[in-house]
Amino acid sequence: MRIAIDVDSTLHHYWDVLSESARRRFGIELPYDEQITWGLTRLRPDQLKACVAETHLEDAVVGAHPYPGAVEAVRRWHEAGHFIHITSHRATGAHAATARWLQRIGLPYDELYCSYDKLARCAEIDIGLLIDDSPLNLEGALEQGIRAATISHPWNRDLCDEEQAIVCAEDWSELERRLASLLGGSEQAGGDATLVGSVARLGPAAITTPRAARHRA
Ligand SMILES: [Mg+2]
Repeated sequence: MRIAIDVDSTLHHYWDVLSESARRRFGIELPYDEQITWGLTRLRPDQLKACVAETHLEDAVVGAHPYPGAVEAVRRWHEAGHFIHITSHRATGAHAATARWLQRIGLPYDELYCSYDKLARCAEIDIGLLIDDSPLNLEGALEQGIRAATISHPWNRDLCDEEQAIVCAEDWSELERRLASLLGGSEQAGGDATLVGSVARLGPAAITTPRAARHRA
């Protein structure tokens, strides 16, 4: 299986970083539990842009704390032969810092992609599963025939309730467990041979190493 994994609010708890930036820069509180839609109305677009840019600066990116169990789960999937595509809706300038963060936390991957066309890239490299907290990306994945999964957040709970095809989990332990029939992992060491074989069928040209990974505009 070829797996795409988002970064913010999927691999680490981004909300606290964003809300701290909004509070410090503009004196605006962004209560996590009240963020029940994807849109953010408490900040003007220019304010949101400034806060997001600040949260994607080198120190913030490299200093992020992964969710408990996230690194271990992804490592098991990678060791089982799954292709790991790390994908983030962040500027090109954050690519190097993101790579350093992934190295620091010991998260193995095959390709890192920092850009604003996440779903197009997923389709381009034949991703079979997208793990992402954005309702827009989750719905878009399903429309493209890509399986979808997420860590549960207030802004995607309605979609999780409505769309049974999306695997929604409270934490990475539950996420790995619920994806075990598809990916193997801690409950199925070695993974599914049929799914692992799908990577090989795509051929070496479709696979890049972290060292070779380049940002694609
Ligand atoms: Mg995200």
